[in-house]
Amino acid sequence: MPSTRLANLIDGRLQAPADDQWLDVHEPATGAVFAQCPDSTAADVDAAAKAAQKAAPAWAATSAETRASLLHKLADLIEATLAPFAELESRDSGKPVALARRLDIPRAVSNLRFFASAIIGWESESHAMENAAINYTLRHPLGVVGCISPWNLPLYLFTWKIAPALASGNTVVAKPSEITPCSAALLGELSIEAGFPAGVLNIVQGRGPSTGQALVEHPVIKAISFTGSTRTGAGIAATAAPQFKKISLEMGGKNPAIVFADADLSEENLDTIVRSGFANQGEICLCGSRLLVQRSIYDSFRERYLAKVRALRVGDPQDAGTDLGALVSREHFDKVMRCVALARDEGGRILCGGDALKLDGRCAGGWFIAPTVIEGLPNDAQTNQQEIFGPVVTLIPFDDEAEAIALANGTGYGLAASLWTQDLSRAHRMGAQLEFGIVWINCWLLRDLRTPFGGSKHSGVGREGGAEALRFFTEPRNICIRY
Ligand code: NAD
Repeated sequence: MPSTRLANLIDGRLQAPADDQWLDVHEPATGAVFAQCPDSTAADVDAAAKAAQKAAPAWAATSAETRASLLHKLADLIEATLAPFAELESRDSGKPVALARRLDIPRAVSNLRFFASAIIGWESESHAMENAAINYTLRHPLGVVGCISPWNLPLYLFTWKIAPALASGNTVVAKPSEITPCSAALLGELSIEAGFPAGVLNIVQGRGPSTGQALVEHPVIKAISFTGSTRTGAGIAATAAPQFKKISLEMGGKNPAIVFADADLSEENLDTIVRSGFANQGEICLCGSRLLVQRSIYDSFRERYLAKVRALRVGDPQDAGTDLGALVSREHFDKVMRCVALARDEGGRILCGGDALKLDGRCAGGWFIAPTVIEGLPNDAQTNQQEIFGPVVTLIPFDDEAEAIALANGTGYGLAASLWTQDLSRAHRMGAQLEFGIVWINCWLLRDLRTPFGGSKHSGVGREGGAEALRFFTEPRNICIRY
């Protein structure tokens, strides 16, 4: 039995699952089991929901200052243990420890601090009717809300949900991914130390179709904030609708990165374009997996781009110099390898990568894939339509702006696009025409937490971030006073 058994956090106490059933947690870099997490049942979810329900009135009655100060305290505790947190996140997910140190854990701290401050500065709306009446809007917490997060940015996305939910006065039942449960379990321990009252934050670990499904079905849960695959999101929407629960769905993408001949292709910008395809092994929903390049620079761009991709270091995620670590699970590794095989079958030319990598020593059993670049496939090929969510980028040439827009918009997804051009008018024109929730121009993953975040089409329903998240987690009530 592995030494680490993670616990659920229910009603302020760390608990084993009621049925004493456990799931193995693997280290992607080695393939070995290194922990076990609760395989919670509907009974555990019910206990958590009831604890949250009991805690809800008192938590809703606390001042914004009290809630903010607890969130800041939790942020302080994470910050004080940043290095061990990052190591744990890397071990659990296969991501480079340097990335976890630079991005995942600091961002979790920022999420908590941002919503702690946002709730203090949040204003209610008022609408005056000329010489007749005044309206003002009260915003009440919903009560108990459910937060479900995926495996790719475990603590980052977990805190992205629980921070606004708690800040706006809700109690929470949260479920991290069963594939990467460790950092959420540690966060649960720290939330006790921070002094959150019992039942305010509950964390129930377990599988999606059992634990997650029970959470979505539970009648006490008033809203579900979900990040994960489009397929799971569709199921959650169908389950939540008959109970009229609020839902916020952040789902998959097939994002374009569009490079015009007039782009400033400095080394730094080219590095960002490479990163936008391969950061976190391509396992970021915002990664640009279709690289559209204007035909007049296609050949020269391809050679410079490939040189940089070939120089990426795939290795032990715990080594500080590693650029790409392991894929998160055996299943996901197999899925990405099937996608590469499909690309070959569809007639794609593999320009680099395309193979699994066998590393030596401690990582001999790990799930590594060489960064892969493919060309020669039309936009309607399955490879260019389906989310791969791995270190795989396709190159697609285009002639002009109209074609670039048609190709970029030509999938069922609408999460994020990035555009590289020095023509300001083109940037504005295209920004308005690209059917995505987020359009980055001459940058990628530059995040301001105040902005609306989310996708259109099959990428999402609703927006999170800033006031959008606080609106989602509250119920508005208009008061109209005639005078
Ligand atoms: P997933 O849908 O398999 O799982 C996500 C979460 O949902 C997990 O906690 C899982 O246990 C849970 N779940 C699964 N079935 C459930 C059910 N029936 N009821 C309730 N919960 C259930 O997704 P994943 O493989 O963990 O994550 C990868 C996907 O997430 C990709 O598609 C990626 O694009 C997407 N993603 C989107 C964003 C975004 O902001 N739009 C961010 C990160 C990841």
